[in-house]
Amino acid sequence: MPQVHLDTIPIWDAYKMDTECPVCALEDNCERQFLDVALGGAMMEPDTRIATNEKGFCPRHFAQLYDAQNRLSLALMTHTHLKDVMDSTQRQSDALLRALEAEKKKNPLSRAASGVAKSSPFHKQMAALADHVQFRTDSCYICDRIQKSMDRYIETICYLYKKDESFRSTFTESKGVCQRHYAVLLRGALEHMSGSMQLQFVEDLLALQKRNLERVEHDLEWFTLKFDYRNQDKPWGNSRDAVERSINRLQGRVIPKDNEKG
Ligand SMILES: [Zn+2]
Ligand SMILES: [Zn+2]
Repeated sequence: MPQVHLDTIPIWDAYKMDTECPVCALEDNCERQFLDVALGGAMMEPDTRIATNEKGFCPRHFAQLYDAQNRLSLALMTHTHLKDVMDSTQRQSDALLRALEAEKKKNPLSRAASGVAKSSPFHKQMAALADHVQFRTDSCYICDRIQKSMDRYIETICYLYKKDESFRSTFTESKGVCQRHYAVLLRGALEHMSGSMQLQFVEDLLALQKRNLERVEHDLEWFTLKFDYRNQDKPWGNSRDAVERSINRLQGRVIPKDNEKG
C-alpha cells in the first residue's frame, strides 16, 4: 500500500469515460470543484482569502469566474486582491522612483554623453519592477490548487499501473493522453516508478501515444479530404469532430468536451 492514502476512484471514473485524454477529464473535474470553492462559502474563510489575495487568478480562471455570474463574491475577492497587488507594486515602484531621482541628480553632461549605465541601480530596479509585476500576474489560486490535485492523480495512476493488473489493461487499451499530459505522465513515471515496471510503463505509453496520434491524424486528414467534391458523398466515419479532437489532443481542454464525439 502507498504511504499515504491515494484515492483511486476518480482515476477509474476518468478511464471509463472513453475520452481522448482521461487526465484532462480529471483536470476538468478539479477545475469545476475549485471554481465552486472560489465562489462559494469557502471564499469567506480567512485561509482561502489570504491565498486568493496573494495568488489572484490567471486569464482563463478570471474569465470562468466572471461567467459564473456570482458578481458579489467575484467583486469581493477581486477587490482585496487588487489592493494587495497595489500595495506590493507600490513598494517596488517607490524604489524605482528613488533610483530615478538619484540618476537625475548625476552630472547631466555625462548622462547625455553615455546614457544610463546598464549596471546602474535605476536599470536594475526597472527590471525588478517588471519581474514583480509579472510575478503577480503569473500566479493563480485555482491553477495552484489544480496542480496539487493533479500531482496526486499522476502518482495514483502510476500506483494503479504498478499494483492493479486490471488497470494496466484498461490503461493500455485507452486512447492515451493529450500531448501536455504525455509529458506529465513521463515525468510522473520518472518520479514514481522504477525497475521493470517503469520499463513496461514507458513501452506501453509510447505505443499508446503513437497508435492514438496516428488515429487522430487519420481522422483529421479525412476531414480535410471530405471538402473535395469527389468525396462529398462518402461517409464521414469518425471525422466529424476530428478538428476538435486534434486540437484537444495537442493542447488538452481547449474545445469543451461537449463538442467531442469520438
Ligand atoms: Zn490531457
Ligand atoms: Zn488559473
